[in-house]
Amino acid sequence: MTRPGGMLIGLDFDNTIVSYDVLFHRAAQEKGLIPDGIVESKLAVRDYLRRLDREDEWTELQGYVYGARMADARAYEGVIDFMREARRQGALVAIVSHKTKHPFRGPQYDLHEAARAWVTTQLVGAGLIEAQEVFFELTKEAKLRRVGALGCDYFIDDLPEILSAPAFPATTTGILFDPDYAHAQSGGKLRFTSWGEIAHYFEPLWTASR
Ligand SMILES: [Mg+2]
Repeated sequence: MTRPGGMLIGLDFDNTIVSYDVLFHRAAQEKGLIPDGIVESKLAVRDYLRRLDREDEWTELQGYVYGARMADARAYEGVIDFMREARRQGALVAIVSHKTKHPFRGPQYDLHEAARAWVTTQLVGAGLIEAQEVFFELTKEAKLRRVGALGCDYFIDDLPEILSAPAFPATTTGILFDPDYAHAQSGGKLRFTSWGEIAHYFEPLWTASR
């Protein structure tokens, strides 16, 4: 699929654009769920609570963070620069995410509305993306369909299972974003651990795509 605007780069949202490490740690501390000395990361908080068989509290904490505290979440270092450069180079950027509308436990925050508000404030307001290029789907299947329908040339996601799903479009190049080095053995897939590395990968592609 060719587009007058050059290449189309699709981005996942949670844990690809947005880093929740500091926020999960802070929220867990505020709620007295973790002791001092737990590493400032989402996975460390999850692993601690799971070890103590407190899965329900972990689930409820997720709803709280993605719902009530979303405005405090921060973009990964380098992703804003990447989006700005992509725009400058004439590429089109879209966000395609999937998440449930409401948390599985606890207060029924509207998670789509919270995420969209974050995108509006942090990205749309900064001129980095158009609101109509942002898609929050309810299921993984709908997300994959959207990536295909948009005709993304590239799709960047932190979950290998999205990129290797049978429904992942054959014409889309999948890129794994793996900041926690969780998938070092990802078998031949494009894999980067920082947005700086991703920017570096795209550098020679900008001019080639014109
Ligand atoms: Mg994700």
